[in-house]
Amino acid sequence: DKGLEKSKESIFGRLSRVVIGKTTVDEEVLDELEEILISSDVGVETTVKIIDRIEKRVARDKYTSTGELDRMLREEVAALLTENRSVSISNSFETEQLPKPYVIMVVGVNGVGKTTTIGKLAHQFHQHGKKVVLGAADTFRAAAVDQLKLWGKRVDVPVIEHGMNTDPSAVAFDAVKKGVEIGADVIIIDTAGRLHTKVNLMNELTKIKRVVQKFLPEAPHEVLLVLDGSTGQNAVIQAREFTKATEVTSLAITKLDGTAKGGVVIGISDEFKIPVKYIGVGEGMNDLQVFNREQFVDSLFK
Ligand code: GDP
Repeated sequence: DKGLEKSKESIFGRLSRVVIGKTTVDEEVLDELEEILISSDVGVETTVKIIDRIEKRVARDKYTSTGELDRMLREEVAALLTENRSVSISNSFETEQLPKPYVIMVVGVNGVGKTTTIGKLAHQFHQHGKKVVLGAADTFRAAAVDQLKLWGKRVDVPVIEHGMNTDPSAVAFDAVKKGVEIGADVIIIDTAGRLHTKVNLMNELTKIKRVVQKFLPEAPHEVLLVLDGSTGQNAVIQAREFTKATEVTSLAITKLDGTAKGGVVIGISDEFKIPVKYIGVGEGMNDLQVFNREQFVDSLFK
């Protein structure tokens, strides 16, 4: 599990250093724990929530050894992730339970790993014997269309594109139409993420949805927001903007291989109550994992 190695060392390593020479969980230990959580990008509100809960447990138990801190923290984090529905979705690349075709609209700011995540998803579904169609509706950057085409070639999945500066909703419409025609299981639509023009962003995503629904009224079945886990609070800000612009139904958090700040997953999950479905742990086509709560918590504390 190479990807989460760094986040693992981070919280656990620092926690062990805090409790060295201490026997009980006192105010000072809790203060330091608070600092560790905040600097691990858990977010202030979520950190306060976790510390409060641990404080209550410590107060109730009169004597709480530092050895128990680890377990308490682990339990509280797991509880938060459960409360927020970020539970593991087993075999999520199996689509038998899903409507056919299953349309995923992917949103996110440039550079977060949106195209890469789409490529990885296409690969995983394809590997599971699913028929996949990609729609290159991020038509504002030439590179975006080209990159998606490249991924399509690499993972052997057709890409519907009209080139650059064309109408994104027309591309999305064609991708869905093509998907239905060829009996695709999954249709994944890339979109442009220009946060500096919020109204445009909202209008554009709304229009893509509306046009796609002309062909398939229940689509998109999923709106997947991709966030870069290494950008800490920036990812949180992006999540706020996108959830205002459209109804986000799931999250993919990328680049958790290159950061000691896996804590962002906890904070985001707590603030937005949107399930984290995938995590990106590298640049390769296999470096996408279905988010698994137990595995994630273990990786932070083992
Ligand atoms: P987009 O602009 O959002 O479509 O971003 P790209 O998909 O082009 O990704 C931007 C950069 O991040 C590329 O160099 C990717 O290889 C890299 N990248 C994407 N996901 C991950 C990940 O999970 N881990 C790492 N280390 N790099 C990633």
